[in-house]
Amino acid sequence: MELTSLTILEAGRLLRRGEVSAVELTESVLDRIVAVDNQVRAFLTLTPELALEQARAADERLTAARRSGEGDLPALLGIPMAVKDVLCTEGVPTTCGSRILEGFLPPYDATVVARLEQAGYVLLGKTNTDEFAMGSSTENSAYFPTRNPWDLSRVPGGSSGGSAAAVAAHEALGALGTDTGGSVRQPAALCGVVGLKPTYGRVSRYGLVAFASSLDQVGTLTRDVADSALLLSIIAGHDAQDSTCVDLPVPNYLEALSPEIAGLRIGVPEEYFGPGMDPGVEATVREALGQLEALGARLERVSLPHTSYALPVYYLIAPAEASSNLARYDGVKYGHAAPGADELWELYKRTRGEGFGAEVKRRIMLGTYALSAGYYDAFYLKAQKVRTLIRQDFDRAFEKVDVLAAPTSPTVAFPIGARVEDPLQMYLSDIYTLSLNLAGLCGISVPCGFADGLPVGLQILGRAFDEATILRVAYAYEQSTPWHTCHPSLSVGQGADPAGC
Ligand code: GLN
Repeated sequence: MELTSLTILEAGRLLRRGEVSAVELTESVLDRIVAVDNQVRAFLTLTPELALEQARAADERLTAARRSGEGDLPALLGIPMAVKDVLCTEGVPTTCGSRILEGFLPPYDATVVARLEQAGYVLLGKTNTDEFAMGSSTENSAYFPTRNPWDLSRVPGGSSGGSAAAVAAHEALGALGTDTGGSVRQPAALCGVVGLKPTYGRVSRYGLVAFASSLDQVGTLTRDVADSALLLSIIAGHDAQDSTCVDLPVPNYLEALSPEIAGLRIGVPEEYFGPGMDPGVEATVREALGQLEALGARLERVSLPHTSYALPVYYLIAPAEASSNLARYDGVKYGHAAPGADELWELYKRTRGEGFGAEVKRRIMLGTYALSAGYYDAFYLKAQKVRTLIRQDFDRAFEKVDVLAAPTSPTVAFPIGARVEDPLQMYLSDIYTLSLNLAGLCGISVPCGFADGLPVGLQILGRAFDEATILRVAYAYEQSTPWHTCHPSLSVGQGADPAGC
C-alpha cells in the first residue's frame, strides 16, 4: 500500500496505532512531490523543513500518547496537507498567484489555517491559484499554469486548481481551497476529487485574502467524503474576527454520515442540463442520478427559473466587490512597489499596472464601472435585486426537496490554452456553480465517473447550514460506486486507467 494514496482518516488510524510515523508519511509525500510536481505544478511554495519539523513534533506527541494510553489526540495529528495560496500563513509566502504580492509574508495565520494547526496538521506548502482566485483553469496564475493529473495537457480547473491537482496526484492527503463562484467544486470535478463549499458564514474568512466578500468561502478538497466531513468539523464555527461567521453549533459531520438515503427527496433542476453541456457529462450525471434513485431516494424535477441570470449577476457583483477589495494594493501597504516613482499617483499607477495581470485588471474595470455614479442603480443595484430572486428560487425548491443534484461543470477538463483568449467561454465553466454562491448555500462535488477518460463531478446542493445532509447524500453515493478509488495516470492524453479503480 502506498502511503501517499491514503485518505486522511486511514492515515490517522495508522499513525495512532504506530504502524507508520508522521515523519515517514511526510517524507513519502514530499518524495512524491519531488517525483511528480515538475509535471503537475500544483505548488507555488513548498515548506519541506517546516513540514518535517511539524511531523517530528507530531511523532513525539503520538509516542507519548501511546505510552500514557491517552486517547484524545487532535484529529489531524501528523497529516500532510496543502493550503491554497490565498489563505494567510504566518511567515510563509502568500502570493494569491499574483506578482503584486510576490514575497509577501503574512504576519498572522488565517483562522482556518490556525484551526488546522491546532488539529496537528503538517503544512507541505501553498498551492497554485488563478490570480486572486479569478478564473476557472489556474491559467490566470501570474507564475505558471497547473496541469490536470488525469491528462497533463489539460487544465485542472480553478481557481483552486493547485489544491485539487495536489490531492488528485497524491501530493497531499487533503487541501484547503476557496469558492467564490465554483472554485472548489469545479476543480474537484475536473480532477476527480471531492470538493466541499460550505454555507456562507459557516467557516471564517479571517485571513482569506478578499476577492468578493459577500461570496467568498473557504472549502475543502479531499479524496473522499468522510475526509471532507472531518475537515469541515475542524474549520467550521464562530470566529470573533469575522463578523459574517455565524455563531451556530458545529455538528459532528463525520457522525452524520450514513449510507442510508431511502426516502430522501432529491430535486433535479431542469435548468442545469442546458445547451453547451458535453453529452458525455450529461449521460454520466444522469447515470449517477439513477444510482441515487436505486439507493431509495425520490427524484423530483424542480425549476430554478432565474438560473440564466446568475452569470451576468455574478459578473457584476463579484467584480464590483473585487474592485473595492483590491484598492488596497497600492505599492505602499503590501507586496510590490514600482521603483523610481517620484509622486504618489505615479506609484499607484505603475505598481498596479505592473503588479496585476490581465484578468484582474478586467475585473477592476468592470467593477469600477458597475459601481460608478449614474450606473450604480442600473447595474450593481439591479444585480443585487436579481440575486434575491435567485435565492428565492432555491428557497422555493427546498420547500419540496431536501437537496438538489446536478452536474458540477458542463464539460470535462479542457485543453490548456483553449479558453484563455475568450473570457466568456471561461466564465461559462461555472454556469452550474455560481448560483449557489449568490444564494449563500452549501454544495459538494463528488466524482461520478468518466467521460472521454476524464473525471466528471456530481454536485449536491443543500440548504443553508445543512452541510450534514449534502455530505450524507454524497457519502451514500460514493460508498455505492467505485469512482473515489480511481487514480490518475499522470500522462498526456491518456485519461482514466479503468484498471486503476
Ligand atoms: N471562475 C469564477 C471567477 O472567475 C469563480 C472563481 C472562484 O470561485 N474563486 O470569478
